[in-house]
Amino acid sequence: MPTPIDVLRTVFGYDSFRGQQAEIVDTVVGGGDALVLMPTGGGKSLCYQIPALIRPGTGVVVSPLIALMQDQVDALSALGVRAGFLNSTQSWEERRGTERALLAGELDLVYLAPERLRLPDTVELLGRADVALFAIDEAHCVSQWGHDFRPDYLLLHVLGERWPDVPRIALTATATRATAAEISERLGLDGARTFVASFDRPNVTYRIEPKDNPRQQLLRLIRTEHDGDAGIVYCLSRASVEQTAEFLVGHGIPALPYHAGLDNRTRAANQARFLREDGVVMVATIAFGMGIDKPDVRFVAHLDLPKSVEGYYQETGRAGRDGLPSTAWLAYGLADVVQQRRMIDTSEGDAAHRRRLGAHLDAMLALCETVHCRRVQLLRYFGEESAPCGNCDTCLAPPDSWNGTVAAQKLLSAVVRLDQRGQRYGTGHVIDILVGRATPRVTQLGHDSLSVFGVGSDLDERTWRGVVRQLLAQGLLGVDASGYQTLHLVEASRAVLSGDREVRLRREAARPAKAPRARSA
Ligand code: ADP
Ligand code: ZN
Repeated sequence: MPTPIDVLRTVFGYDSFRGQQAEIVDTVVGGGDALVLMPTGGGKSLCYQIPALIRPGTGVVVSPLIALMQDQVDALSALGVRAGFLNSTQSWEERRGTERALLAGELDLVYLAPERLRLPDTVELLGRADVALFAIDEAHCVSQWGHDFRPDYLLLHVLGERWPDVPRIALTATATRATAAEISERLGLDGARTFVASFDRPNVTYRIEPKDNPRQQLLRLIRTEHDGDAGIVYCLSRASVEQTAEFLVGHGIPALPYHAGLDNRTRAANQARFLREDGVVMVATIAFGMGIDKPDVRFVAHLDLPKSVEGYYQETGRAGRDGLPSTAWLAYGLADVVQQRRMIDTSEGDAAHRRRLGAHLDAMLALCETVHCRRVQLLRYFGEESAPCGNCDTCLAPPDSWNGTVAAQKLLSAVVRLDQRGQRYGTGHVIDILVGRATPRVTQLGHDSLSVFGVGSDLDERTWRGVVRQLLAQGLLGVDASGYQTLHLVEASRAVLSGDREVRLRREAARPAKAPRARSA
């Protein structure tokens, strides 16, 4: 029987294992279960591929990434590994071919879409095959509260029950300790050894800046720091993907759109160009990127706020898989907070579900508004303590914080005054009142005679927007996200108004934002 290191060298052509790979491989080769939390690019695939080659029988890999199965199988075939896949994109003949090879013991690995386990045929097929191990890739998809939940993943519980003697290895790049516990429970992996690799990506510089004119900000980032580099730009909506791609193309940057509304052929063609050509910028919804193996993505930009820190980490994790300096850049603003709260308020699901979504958003906002090292905050979210990195925007240019208590009181007072008249208004109008701008609307409504009219003229409009955004982020102000986005007080506002609570605010960076150079790896 070949040893793991033999297989690593002769089949994959690498000299040595990385990180915990050797231990993980030994565990599974020895018949034990494993739960592997390892960041993108960490080398999860070898953790099941090598045991599958060593143990008798076929390794069964459950993966939601149907679009990538052909590529994965081709890559393995090029190494002389006998691999196949079973999913809905295949013709009947192709499927039969893979099934026959599986039953004849002619496959080292077979990739399986999770929904196939809904078919009794598949379970019966696996029952007749000699299974070396089950690998459950993207295991966080089993988490009902996560951002990638796939109901079919709940079916995977059956694997442990039906095949108690076959080792199982679950792998994911995105899991907090809580999600890891949930994965373990839902997959029945309580006896599994858990391997947690560091989630730090030292070559990635994290930067988050207030949204001003996001496309111009993005263009500046690309032109000044990432000219000619491959990158991914994430937008929330299809329309915004299209517009941003057009905008970049209009400025001479080779950008392509990618979202679920494009037909399959266009999507595949754009993905292929991004993978094969140099310096292509993919503008995409989050539908793009899972499992994409492009090592030299130099920047990942977010033009909209991600829904959770997990999502942000996973998306930014696609930058710099080759270990070279790379940028994770995010622009976010008041409208993002409002939009996300609205999406939560109008989302399906019960109150508990909405609370979880709200908690995810709060953690993301805390990361945006922190005056401390972004990396420390990010890693702490994944249960890892670290020292300030010296390579994120807050380390490179520590933001000032200021005592925003008085400003907050002025703003909240204005909201109270209006509310006392039974009126609620959006951010723009409230700021007009504060800075003392007698717009037609302000005078028509008689708001220029309010006692708060002009009390905030010491700060400019941009600063006021920052105050509103940060108060919303800190839960000190409420917004009617599902209606006219009007502002109102919340319970915690009272302590600010009464002077019992001090408010620290982050000073907005001067424009244009200083561009720190990425540290070399
Ligand atoms: P993940 O699935 O964790 O994102 P992959 O399994 O795709 O990561 O591995 C990322 C890259 O690192 C791949 O190109 C892979 O071939 C390479 N790699 C993995 N393990 C090793 C190793 N021990 N030595 C050298 N390269 C490795
Ligand atoms: Zn830092």
